[in-house]
Amino acid sequence: MKNPFHIMLIPTLGCPSNCSYCWSSEEGSPIMSIDTVRDVVRWLKDFRNDRVTFTFHGGEPLLAGADFYRQALPLIAGELSHLTPDFALQTNLWRMTPEIAEVLAEYHVPIGSSIDGPREINDRQRGDGYFEKTMRGYEIARAHGLSVRFICTFTKESVEHREAIVEFFRKNGFVLKLHPALPSLRDSNPERWALAPEKYGDLLVYLLDQALDHIDEVEIMNINDLVRCVFTRHGNVCTFADCMGSTFAVGPDGSIYPCYRFVGMPEYVMGNVADCPGPEDLAASDAGKLMQGFKDYVDQACADCRHIRYCRGGCPYNAIAPTGGKVAGVDPHCIAYKRIFDEIGDRLDAEMFASPPMGMGGFPGQPKRGARPGIMSLMQRIVAR
Ligand code: SF4
Ligand code: SF4
Repeated sequence: MKNPFHIMLIPTLGCPSNCSYCWSSEEGSPIMSIDTVRDVVRWLKDFRNDRVTFTFHGGEPLLAGADFYRQALPLIAGELSHLTPDFALQTNLWRMTPEIAEVLAEYHVPIGSSIDGPREINDRQRGDGYFEKTMRGYEIARAHGLSVRFICTFTKESVEHREAIVEFFRKNGFVLKLHPALPSLRDSNPERWALAPEKYGDLLVYLLDQALDHIDEVEIMNINDLVRCVFTRHGNVCTFADCMGSTFAVGPDGSIYPCYRFVGMPEYVMGNVADCPGPEDLAASDAGKLMQGFKDYVDQACADCRHIRYCRGGCPYNAIAPTGGKVAGVDPHCIAYKRIFDEIGDRLDAEMFASPPMGMGGFPGQPKRGARPGIMSLMQRIVAR
């Protein structure tokens, strides 16, 4: 099965916010020109004949301004119509304006934003005033009919308030997507905010219970994705699939990288859109070989793991970046992945064995009236959504 084709466009690495744990913004970063977008279009015309998703990411992509999106969106949608492009945008929403919202609405661009829970918890790790500025942008986006989902970054500190954070998402009817804070590569104290893998595993099990206990009230995207992985035995988000060769990021100057997480690190440049490199050219670059090296490593290192088919060693960035570009292990979050995959798999087995056989008054996995919903119930919800 081919993995989805995904191009991340990074109009700038600049960002007006200054979140304490952020490692992906850069002061004074230039803004991508429309000529570079034209090069992107020329590069992709004959690159791969599959439906593609473009995600505008950063830094803060709204710094590019309304004119950038007024030109870039029709250019991509029109010139690459044979690839039926979908769009998405990841932003803190501070620079959302009615003008930008209008053009995003015209192209049905769903928005991923970031909020780490109630104001006090959020602003403690993202900076004073963050919450209010994001909510102001959220109101503009919603007034234009845009869909907005929030990524919630759990840090070493905020995980201690997980009850209040889930309650915040539940009360506001926000879909929650969890992101564990990573050790920063640009900080003298990289572990200051990072969520340890064991804590991350605990958090995932807690969120699984929350998703089941409040099955009608809260939707937790990661839990849905993990349950779907176990059910289909296939990774359905980039962390649990071989992203290499299917995902690329383009930086402000047209440099091509394996993913947005590498943008701005010259050692991971695979080529430039102006040269229209083909898939083989990118695979032959040092960064391309490194990503393939990770895939080969996982085939060996995870061979005996029962979850290898739908985990695939986790995220290559998480594995490679902290070791200075060497493949020396799998994603350090392996401990968390194993914990939650085991938990989902074991509970599922228990539900199946506890069910009456077909034709004996029940449907496999169906909870008894009044009983707590289980993994099967959640899967039924996911399919129905
Ligand atoms: S490097 Fe990690 S974050 Fe980037 S596409 Fe691959 S799995 Fe996803
Ligand atoms: S859970 Fe760990 S050992 Fe298993 S496939 Fe994932 S990274 Fe490899």
